[in-house]
Amino acid sequence: AKNQGRGRCVEFDQSMDQAAQEHAQLAADLSVAIDRNELALVYQPIVTLPHGELSGVEALVRWQHPVRGFVSPVEFIPVAERTGLITALGAWVLYEACQQGAAWLRELGPAAPGRISVNVSARQLIEPDFPTVVEAALLASGLPAEKLTVEITETAVFDGGPALVAVNAMKDLGVRVALDDFGTGHSSLGLLRTVPIDVLKVDKSFVDGVGQSPEQEAIITSLSQIGSAMRLVVVAEGVETGAQADRLYELGYRYAQGYHFARPLKAPEIAGFALKPSPV
Ligand code: C2E
Ligand code: CA
Ligand code: CA
Ligand code: CA
Repeated sequence: AKNQGRGRCVEFDQSMDQAAQEHAQLAADLSVAIDRNELALVYQPIVTLPHGELSGVEALVRWQHPVRGFVSPVEFIPVAERTGLITALGAWVLYEACQQGAAWLRELGPAAPGRISVNVSARQLIEPDFPTVVEAALLASGLPAEKLTVEITETAVFDGGPALVAVNAMKDLGVRVALDDFGTGHSSLGLLRTVPIDVLKVDKSFVDGVGQSPEQEAIITSLSQIGSAMRLVVVAEGVETGAQADRLYELGYRYAQGYHFARPLKAPEIAGFALKPSPV
């Protein structure tokens, strides 16, 4: 039994080694992914309720690895954060999204997505030159600052200090700030008092509770009420069915995002979504 135990232990160590090697390889590959044009952005519509008209889009990064194929951001964003690659990756995302936003304004005029949201990770937000990077991306693209929203998470601003400085710098630039995955952090409500945000994105885990029970709907309802009372734009994330969308509207929601309305789309497909006649 003792031998077996030791054997297992060695196996475990080897698999740890393997995991570490995998991780190092992924990090190395990621460091050249930008130069090799393996990263791309897709854009998911954010729509108004009840009719599902295009309000804005959220930029989401995709990595087409030459050998592994598609790698999910859930996998490589944490790697980028740990290795510091998030600085370069985040700057690339900002530039690319601003360029695309400006291109839509030129090409689609009033039909262009009203706003473009970009995810900013905790580590990226607290880099001292983050506001300079945002400003440079706006200037280089010609995208008006008020068309850009940065999405930050509760955990990023929880520590206060540098993150709050960055949020205030966004306000000074005229860039909107959204609190992403709202409700999943540790001090959600407390943050609303201290962090000057413009948009609340209510996490999918709450939206999943729509139509499930009066208790779950009570939470959903109060989140939208708090947001509205604070004059924030409140967006329901991860809306997958028409029934959820209808009920969210009844519960006070005016903005939604999710597969029911559209999956993340390539940039040219957004033009199609923007120009399609509004549903009745
Ligand atoms: P997130 O910011 O919460 O983005 C929403 C995620 O939910 C996206 O996954 C989107 O495709 C997915 N989603 C949208 N509607 C639905 C739905 O109705 N049902 C379900 N099941 N999922 C839905 P994605 O693109 O895989 O991104 C995952 C996460 O990776 C993002 O979560 C965000 O935290 C991070 N991420 C993505 N792009 C970037 C980026 O450019 N920079 C940074 N820092 N993080 C990013
Ligand atoms: Ca987001
Ligand atoms: Ca989210
Ligand atoms: Ca999320």
